[in-house]
Amino acid sequence: MSDCIFCKIANGEIPSQMAYEDDRIAVFHDLEPQAPVHVLMVPKKHIASLDAAEAEDSALLGHILTTVKKVAAELGLENGYRLVCNCGQDGLQTVQHLHFHLLGKRQMSWPPG
Ligand code: 5GP
Ligand code: ZN
Repeated sequence: MSDCIFCKIANGEIPSQMAYEDDRIAVFHDLEPQAPVHVLMVPKKHIASLDAAEAEDSALLGHILTTVKKVAAELGLENGYRLVCNCGQDGLQTVQHLHFHLLGKRQMSWPPG
């Protein structure tokens, strides 16, 4: 999508602090980190939200999830981490391109706000 900020970051049009990249996904540091380590894992394909993902996206979503541990290890999250996907209005999704927040390097609490 031409006016999507995360599409532009993923294809390099807008510079970002990239933590990991391959042919299908990009991982970059959040502009407003909520933890000492806070990166966003996004598919290069524009998918508006988890709710908009289709069966044909299963391999792509699986690839993101199985890449988490590699990114976490590279970022030094040996004590654990949290993966968050905000979806839709109630989920407080503010950018309409599917992304998973990977947060770490601090003790998390529960329940989330
Ligand atoms: P959401 O609220 O949709 O789950 O998360 C969107 C995230 O994207 C927020 O944590 C916000 O700080 C981050 N964000 C928004 N715009 C930009 C940007 O232009 N660059 C980066 N690196 N992060 C952004
Ligand atoms: Zn997009």
